[in-house]
Amino acid sequence: MSGLTKKTLMPKVTETTLEINLASLKHNFEYLKSKLKEDTLFLAVVKAFAYGSEANAIAHCLQKMKVDYFAVAYIREGIALRKAGITTPILVLHPQEKNLNLAIEHCLEPSLYSLKILQEFQRIAMLHQQKNYPVHIKFNTGLNRLGFEPQELDLVVDQLSRTSVLKVRSVFSHLAASEDLEEKAFTLAQVELYKSLSSSFAEKINYPFIKHLCNTSGVINYPEAHFNMVRCGIGLYGYGNTNTEAQNFKPVATLKSVISQIHFVSKGKSVGYNRGFISPHDTKIATIPIGHADGIGRHFGHGAGVVSIENKKAVIVGNVCMDMVMVDVTDIECVEGDEVVFFGCEFSAEASAAAANTISYELITAISQRVKRVIV
Ligand SMILES: *Cc1c(COP(=O)(O)O)cnc(C)c1O
Repeated sequence: MSGLTKKTLMPKVTETTLEINLASLKHNFEYLKSKLKEDTLFLAVVKAFAYGSEANAIAHCLQKMKVDYFAVAYIREGIALRKAGITTPILVLHPQEKNLNLAIEHCLEPSLYSLKILQEFQRIAMLHQQKNYPVHIKFNTGLNRLGFEPQELDLVVDQLSRTSVLKVRSVFSHLAASEDLEEKAFTLAQVELYKSLSSSFAEKINYPFIKHLCNTSGVINYPEAHFNMVRCGIGLYGYGNTNTEAQNFKPVATLKSVISQIHFVSKGKSVGYNRGFISPHDTKIATIPIGHADGIGRHFGHGAGVVSIENKKAVIVGNVCMDMVMVDVTDIECVEGDEVVFFGCEFSAEASAAAANTISYELITAISQRVKRVIV
């Protein structure tokens, strides 16, 4: 019974559980750092509940490991981290005008990406009687999502120099296709544009600031573009965006559940809503307590999604329900109460996501707050 040794290591789950492995997080952090020069700063992206895992535990662990910066998407996410006792600087990538006053109150550093948001934050910082409040200037170098246009550079510098309420802590941009080597020419053009923008900016402003451009795939594929800091998200959580890199990372989150009930369904009978599955022969069907309300979307139905039971693969049959899925376990020796793995260490979210035509980012960030989190 080779399974026994494993079971003594980690108690079996009795309900749907997302296990968060902090040793894997440390491994990924060290691996990514090994790609950097000694003095390159490390910003950990912990937006969206640390990519669907558990932001407080992840941030505290990284803070202990002396990460230099955190980033979140929205101000509310930053406030939650501050309330949980995080004292490391936090960059807010996508602050909304309406919440800007809360940034100062909670010591959050906004990314300023348009003249409107820059002026508004200057006004608020002035009201709060700030001097040299740290901000981050974001340029659009080709993603066409957020950021000042390159030709707005003089305008930005001019607007900033009108008062001393703000101080530029960093100038940054974001790559559109760092994981796709077929787009290498495009990415290198982004790197060159960023290089020239950040240099012109430096010429016009008489103090040093941090330069950063790379996300996880940028760190791996473009060592020449690390500048003074890198921003890693997905790599920290264990996914490297390529098959060759996959083995260097360890998935932090493992999604597990249990078999609630087993039905023997004879040939021609149906399973689930709208009779989504018609049994082609006598089948053994297991019901698992996880559904689209937990983050397993309907696109995982009808054979696309696969789970692992006793190290064997079982496909999701029929439609994914709100709280349950049914899987075909005809060829698997299993009983009610047995553990089911959706993704994690032995069974990567990348492969699981690909089977349902999505990416690891979407699958892991979708795991809803209803799912119990356990730190291991
Ligand atoms: C989410 C995000 C990142 C992290 O990207 P990964 O591919 O997960 O490493 C970095 N920078 C910005 C601006 C982001 O929005």
